[in-house]
Amino acid sequence: MHIAILLILAAVAAPAQDSLPLGKLPPGRVLLVAQPHHDDHTTDYGMGGLIARFVEHGFEGYYVRGSNDEKDGAHGYGRNDIINLKETWDAIRILGMKKVISLNWRNDFMNPIPLDELREQLIFVIRKYRPDAVLGHNPWEHYQKNPDHRNVARALVEACWLAGYETVHPEHFDLGLKPHSVPHYYGKGRLDWGLGQISNIAMELNESQERKKELAIAAHRNVYGSGGAARALSAELAKEGKYIPEFERAAGELEASDMITHWWMNWTSRQIGRKAGVKYAGSHNYTGGLYHLPGLREFVAQNAEPVR
Ligand SMILES: [Zn+2]
Repeated sequence: MHIAILLILAAVAAPAQDSLPLGKLPPGRVLLVAQPHHDDHTTDYGMGGLIARFVEHGFEGYYVRGSNDEKDGAHGYGRNDIINLKETWDAIRILGMKKVISLNWRNDFMNPIPLDELREQLIFVIRKYRPDAVLGHNPWEHYQKNPDHRNVARALVEACWLAGYETVHPEHFDLGLKPHSVPHYYGKGRLDWGLGQISNIAMELNESQERKKELAIAAHRNVYGSGGAARALSAELAKEGKYIPEFERAAGELEASDMITHWWMNWTSRQIGRKAGVKYAGSHNYTGGLYHLPGLREFVAQNAEPVR
């Protein structure tokens, strides 16, 4: 292929996002975060800071963990599940959320599961808790190789929409539930990888929210607290005759690995914050309730008036 065409394709594949508009928190009182794994709400392009911000502004937060996390950790399937669930609770408490709801689908084996069944579970949870905002993976994120991320995200955006219809799973209404569609969705992903949907919004984080974001991921010690990260980095640097003095002052490899986690998360928030002209931020793909018809948002902006 001609080099010029390759360069054009490269530019299309990875659009530079030098700036992002700052978003505002929507009105409401209930936040639902639904993702497959124990740590998804807290990872680097995750939403720990935004969750903390929602909660600090009065929202009740609920976390749906779709899988059983049996593959994450070195303790065997059963113990990994129990340890990871416990650490999910530790993390949501740091963020101020109220509850973890585990669906327990098999970790990393979610390709063949009945997607309609997963979707019904999510519709049920949405109708029970009636969230004003939902956070999850972006189902249109490209290069996402994790089947659990893809499948839960896809079922979730379908559920956010279908939960509002009286004709969808009417058997739920015999249990006292009512239809409820979700007006605000924030999609997570490495959206800077390009193609698909890219980030369209940055949500600013204050110092407290940034700190909670860092502490929440560090709570997942089964995966992030082995000491291996510091050990591997030190070994790599030793080959070049270098070392990190702060690691020498740490109490051990665990504390040194915690330092890496904090630096990594802080770095991500600062990089995104720079695009929005603030110190710390997270980036998301946001869709609001008025996007389903072309031009509706603009029509409402021009014609709607406050109720007197
Ligand atoms: Zn995950």
